[in-house]
Parts: sequence; C-alpha cells; structure tokens
Amino acid sequence: MRGTSEYRATLVTHHGKGGVIAPLLQSAGWTVDVLDRDTDALGTFSGDVERRGSPRDVAITKALLASGESAAPWFLASEGSLTRDPWGLARDHELVVLVHAASGVTLVGEALSHDVVLVGEEVNSEWTDSRLDDLCARADLGRHHLMVVSVTHDVPARGGLARRVEVETALREMSAPGRRLRIQSDCRAHLSASRREVIGAATRDLIRKLSSTCPSCAGVGFSPVEAVEGLRCSQCYLPTREPRAHLWACPWCDFRRETLVEATVDPSRCPWCNP
Ligand SMILES: [Zn+2]
Ligand SMILES: [Zn+2]
Repeated sequence: MRGTSEYRATLVTHHGKGGVIAPLLQSAGWTVDVLDRDTDALGTFSGDVERRGSPRDVAITKALLASGESAAPWFLASEGSLTRDPWGLARDHELVVLVHAASGVTLVGEALSHDVVLVGEEVNSEWTDSRLDDLCARADLGRHHLMVVSVTHDVPARGGLARRVEVETALREMSAPGRRLRIQSDCRAHLSASRREVIGAATRDLIRKLSSTCPSCAGVGFSPVEAVEGLRCSQCYLPTREPRAHLWACPWCDFRRETLVEATVDPSRCPWCNP
C-alpha cells in the first residue's frame, strides 16, 4: 500500500514529549519518535515573534525540521490558530500535518472548536485586584496558564504562569514607565488542556484520513478536498449554497471522485423560500 509500507513518523515539537498526538497515533498502530526543536522562530503565541505564512505552511516547515535528522519515512508537526471571531467567541483551528519524506505528499488533519479557554486583558489605569481575580477565574488556572506580555514586545513575555501570585510577580517585575502590559492565556499546547483536546480531534481526523485509501492507486489519505455547492431546496427545487457533492482526491495520483449528497435543503434554510 502506497505510503504506509512503514507506519513510522518523527514528530517535531517544542517543549513536548509528544503531547496528545503521539499516543493517539501509537494507538492507531504507528511508531512515533519525538524530535524536540525550538520552533519559536516560526512564530509565538505571545506575539514576540510574528508567524509568517499560512498555518499549513508553518506546520509543514516545522515537520521538515526533521529532514536529515530522522530516517523515518514520515515527518509530523502541528500548528494552531487561536483567535476571536467577530462575535468575540474564542476560536481554535488546529492542524496536524504528516509529510511523506520521500515524495513530499502531505496529509492534513484538522479540527475547529470554540470550546477553548482564551482570555486577554490589558492592564490599564483602572486595573483592580478584583479584575485580576475575575481574569484568573476565567483563565481556568490549574488546567491552563497565563502569560504577561508587553503590548509593544519591548521585553520578552513571561509565560507558564500557573498561579495568581506568579502573575502578580510578573506584572511587578515587567512594569516600567510608559510600558503597557497585557495578561493573556498562554496557549502553548503543554500549558492549555482545552487546546490539547482540539489537537486530539485534529489528530483523529488525520487518522481517519489515513485509513481511507485511493480506489485507483491504494495510497492512503483519499479524502474530501472540496464541497460543491448547489443542493436543491425540497420546496422550490432551486439550488442553494449547501453542498450537493463532495469532491474526493488522492494525494498520490490524479484520481478524483464526486460523491453526491442524497438530501434536499429544508425550505427554512433555503435563501429563495426563506430569504
Ligand atoms: Zn491514488
Ligand atoms: Zn426553496
């Protein structure tokens, strides 16, 4: 079977002993060794180093740090994007990429969740002890950590803060005339339990894709790559924006296949019947 003659991957990670990714792949029959590399140069959550390129590109760049250092046929890495959507809801999009060393074929598992702890507040002139209490409570300290950053990044961020007193110490030691400080979630995976859950979901998505093989070449990773809009409404029969088909593609050969969605759109979700 193409690509899986050897279920062996090197996971490139920072601070990690494999986190959630390695155990999940191991239970799916893979051998995973961990290569600890400082990936901070590719971007940090503190904002001290800005990320360049798309999350997918950054994840692939991380995985390729194993080139020349590992004889494993596959390299593995992950990258997350934590943001707030326009409604202020926390949003975590996680990618786990598996790069086939010899061919460069790349499989991507992904997961999106709003169920992630993400707090952040600037310490301004109206700052009070009770606001710090409130922030620590929302930060879910214990399962999560905080960091203190300078808004202009003129001093290095202090992260991994597990207790309120550590936050207070960092604030005191980092404060300087004219400097604006911000307290925010330290989202590094080993310090954020809720983020690890989303990385786990992305890993399971990758494992699902690995178990799906191409009908033409038997390569692993045959999976949907695109939704084709145009599913019809059950009442007016006009096409809507909902997918009428999913386009599946093989990462190893040119084989593609459309699978039709056997359904209609309820008029309540039809832009023509219910504008
Ligand atoms: Zn194929
Ligand atoms: Zn309709």
